[in-house]
Amino acid sequence: MNDCIFCKIIDKEIPANIVFENEDIIAFEDAHPVAPIHYLVIPKKHISSMNDVKQEDIEVLGKIQLVLRDLAKQLGVAENGYRVITNCGEDGGQKVKHIHYHLLAGKHLGHKLVKEE
Ligand code: 5GP
Ligand code: ZN
Repeated sequence: MNDCIFCKIIDKEIPANIVFENEDIIAFEDAHPVAPIHYLVIPKKHISSMNDVKQEDIEVLGKIQLVLRDLAKQLGVAENGYRVITNCGEDGGQKVKHIHYHLLAGKHLGHKLVKEE
């Protein structure tokens, strides 16, 4: 997918602050953080959204849970806690159409999952 911004980060065509990388997963700082700690963890395989996950993707998505866990520990927020979010589709607020997991931490994030409007 050559018009995908996250695929371009994977291919190092556009820069990002990469904090973890292996053969099938990459993690980098979000360009517009909404918490003191805000990282994105993504599979290198282009999967457009949660709606497009296939049986064959289970392994890499499972490994992402471990990367999130290790990243939280490495950043020193495992004890205090953190939040992991995946947005899907229009109502879910997904802007970038390459599945990604937001790792948010560094302050008390509150109990409300959705802003009241
Ligand atoms: P979404 O709204 O799709 O769940 O989240 C997309 C996230 O990607 C946003 O938090 C946004 O700040 C981040 N983002 C968009 N473009 C870039 C980019 O070029 N580099 C980085 N590091 N993050 C980006
Ligand atoms: Zn992509």
